[in-house]
Amino acid sequence: MASKIHPFGVGNALDASFKLILVAEGFTAAQRGAFSALCHDLIEAILATTPFNRTRVRPEWLTVIKVFMPSTSSGPRIAGAPGHSTLLSSFVDGATNRLAVDHGLLGAVLATQSVTTAVGEVPLAALYGAGGITYGVTGGLVAVIAPAMADPAGADDHVRPAAGEYHLVATTANGLWHQVVLRGIGTALGLADEYEREGAAFAAATETSPELANAPNVVFSDAPPVMNADFIAWRHVMSPVEALAPAVVQPRPAHDLPNTALPAAPYAAGRVAFWEGGAGYRRKAYRPAEDCLMRRAPGLGYLPARVGAIGFCPVCVSHLRSAIG
Ligand SMILES: [Zn+2]
Repeated sequence: MASKIHPFGVGNALDASFKLILVAEGFTAAQRGAFSALCHDLIEAILATTPFNRTRVRPEWLTVIKVFMPSTSSGPRIAGAPGHSTLLSSFVDGATNRLAVDHGLLGAVLATQSVTTAVGEVPLAALYGAGGITYGVTGGLVAVIAPAMADPAGADDHVRPAAGEYHLVATTANGLWHQVVLRGIGTALGLADEYEREGAAFAAATETSPELANAPNVVFSDAPPVMNADFIAWRHVMSPVEALAPAVVQPRPAHDLPNTALPAAPYAAGRVAFWEGGAGYRRKAYRPAEDCLMRRAPGLGYLPARVGAIGFCPVCVSHLRSAIG
């Protein structure tokens, strides 16, 4: 059963807003209230996070829809372990702590849902279907939420859609799990990943790397910038004085593995710098800050998205703010 839980009492046009669809996974009928409470926790987290806190004054940009179908047992499976016949057939990959969701089953569940709008009941798939518009302010994101688990201490994932699939994040309700969902919304609104991947294909970005096309927060450059203003794309988040200052370039470590180092102190968004590594690439791609929620990597086993409070860097904040309006 699907129900709209945000905005409350505002007649927003669902097809003209961003759709966040929260799907319960591994909650029994007795845990319906617990899932509802988590959904409301998430909305509070959205309202508390810069720049999504603009939702308080512009609630109509975002529609949140909750989908609850009870599972026969609680929680996701650990790999192939028996005893959990959950609705979407999710399982936790013990090597990466990835919460994998079966896209086919998810699609089958969402295809049966409808939601009440100002013009009556409409199929959920008509508002946000698999393979439909995904990116941008009229796009959407499916967030599969499972109950918290003890061993391992949670799991998560982020899946960019292939043809006919949903853009998906999945997380157990462990730790700062709402950050997995906020990061997914950032991706759906056009932000690139700021982390690095392993393998030869991601050794260095090129001018035509698809991951960097139209990405506001990661820029390809053959050589490090000399002045702050050398990256025109980030000029708008700098003061005039800052733009004329020499660039602060932070080269990546000498090794050729993904840089998984986290700042020693909790991240605080400051001025723009030029950190090598981003959009999956280890070299010739630059991100604006040492850390950012977009640098965290759900489902990859490094750069955790649920551990430690982490916000968006100045360039990501600027992009999201203009997307929200
Ligand atoms: Zn960022």
